[in-house]
Amino acid sequence: MQNDFIIYNTLSRKKEKFEPINPPFVGLYVCGPTVYGDAHLGHARPAITFDLLFRYLQHMGYKVRYVRNITDVGHLENDADEGEDKIAKKARLEQLEPMEIVQYYSDRYHKNMEELNVLKPSIEPRASGHIIEQQQMIDKILEAGYAYEKDGSVYFDVEKYSKDYNYGKLSGRVLDDLKSNTRELAGQDEKRNPFDFALWKKAKPEHIMRWPSVWSDGFPGWHLECSVMSTKYLGEKFDIHGGGMDLLFPHHESEIAQSTAANGSESVKYWMHNNMITIKGQKMGKSLGNFITLDEFFTGKHELLDQAYAPMTVRFFILQAHYRSTLDFSPEALVASEKGLQRLLTAVKSIDKIKPQKESTVNVNELKEKCYAAINDDLNSPILISHLFDGVKMINSLVENKQSITAKDLEELKQLYNSFVFDILGLRDDNSSIGGNKLNEVVDLILNIRYNAKSNKDFATSDKIRDELQSLGFVIKDRKDGSDWELK
Ligand code: ZN
Repeated sequence: MQNDFIIYNTLSRKKEKFEPINPPFVGLYVCGPTVYGDAHLGHARPAITFDLLFRYLQHMGYKVRYVRNITDVGHLENDADEGEDKIAKKARLEQLEPMEIVQYYSDRYHKNMEELNVLKPSIEPRASGHIIEQQQMIDKILEAGYAYEKDGSVYFDVEKYSKDYNYGKLSGRVLDDLKSNTRELAGQDEKRNPFDFALWKKAKPEHIMRWPSVWSDGFPGWHLECSVMSTKYLGEKFDIHGGGMDLLFPHHESEIAQSTAANGSESVKYWMHNNMITIKGQKMGKSLGNFITLDEFFTGKHELLDQAYAPMTVRFFILQAHYRSTLDFSPEALVASEKGLQRLLTAVKSIDKIKPQKESTVNVNELKEKCYAAINDDLNSPILISHLFDGVKMINSLVENKQSITAKDLEELKQLYNSFVFDILGLRDDNSSIGGNKLNEVVDLILNIRYNAKSNKDFATSDKIRDELQSLGFVIKDRKDGSDWELK
C-alpha cells in the first residue's frame, strides 16, 4: 500500500511521516535488557513493540539493520551512578563470574524471545565488548569541553552542555527543576552538580568488572554504551531509536547529550517509546510481589496465575493495546486474549475451506485498506486487530456459503491474513504443536489420500487410515466432500 507510514516522534511530540535518511536502508537501535535476572512482562513489551516495527518496515520493503544491545556492565543499582553494578552483585551473590551471569540470563532471554516469536536483531552488541570505543567517545567529549575528570572518574558536565544545547529536550525536564529536585546522594561530591552523570567510574577495590584507562582502572557509565554502539553500527546519523518510556530519563536524554557533545550534532531522527505494563493497576515490582516472569506465565507457576498462558497469548495480549498506552495485566484480560487469538487463528485456518464463486459479495479490498491504514497510523495494532476480527465475520459467512467470493479475491484474502497475522503481527499457530503448520499439511494430505480411496470404493484403505489416525489421538469428522480433524 502506498499510504504514508506515520510514527509518533517523542522528540517533536508529534506524529511525523516516516522518511528514512538513506532509503531503502533503515537503521533501528533499541535498548535491550540488562541481563541479571529472568525476563518479565516489562521486557516482553519493548521486544514485541519493536519487533512489530522491524517486521512492518521489512514488509514495506526496507532493508533494516536492527541493533539491540545487551547491557552487561555499568548499570548500577540506582540510575544515579551509585550502588553496585547489577550484574556484579548477582555474580557475588551466586558466587559466579559476572560473564557467567551474563551468559546464563542472555540465553534465557533469547529462549523467551524465541517463544514469543520475536525476530533476532541484526546485531546484538554487548557493552563489555566496546570498552575501547567508549573510552574514545569519552576522549571526544572531554576534548569538546563537555566533561571533566575528578579523582579517576569522568563526568558529563550537564550545566556546560546546557549553555550550548538543550539538555531536557526529549524528556521535557528543565535544568532548573533538575537542580532543585536532584537528591544529593552520599559519595556524589566528586560531581560539580548532582545531575551530572558518569562517563567513566573509578572502580572501588571490591569492584570486579574493571578495565584500565588513562583516568583509572574502572568501568564505563551506563548511558555511554548506547551512544557508542549505535554510532558504531548505524553511523553518526540514523533513523529510529526505541526503548521503554522508563528509559526516557536519564538514559535517553543523556544519550542525546553524549552523542551531540561528541559529534557536534544529534544522531537520532525519530525517537519511539513504548508505555509501561501495570498489574491490576499497580506498577510491577519485586517488592510488591506482583513480579511475574515470562517463564512463570508460560508454566502458570505464580500465585497470581491460575493457569499457564501460551507465549502467543502473551504476545497477542500485548499487541491488543497500542504501544503508547499503558497496558494493565489481569488474569481475566489474558483469558480474553487467549479466546480472541483462538477465534482469529481458527478463522485463518478455515479460509482454505472457502470455495471460490463467480462473483464476490464481500469487499476484500476495503478490508485491506483499513488494515494498512491502521498499521500506518503509528503502528495501531488494536485497531488493526479489530479490522481483522471484522474480517473473521466475513470469513465465517463465506465458509457457511452466506456470502460469495471470486478466486482472485479469495487469494487476496488469504494473502492479507498471512501478511498481517503471521508476518507483521508475528503470531504463530502453536495449537498444532509439533511442526506447527507442517503437521496440518501432512494430516490434510493423509486425509486426502483417504478421501480418494473412499471415492474408489477402497474401503479397507480408507478405514485403516481413519483407525490409525484415531489411535494416534486425531478426531476425524467426515463431511460430504472430505473430512475435518482435530487433535484430542
Ligand atoms: Zn540504551
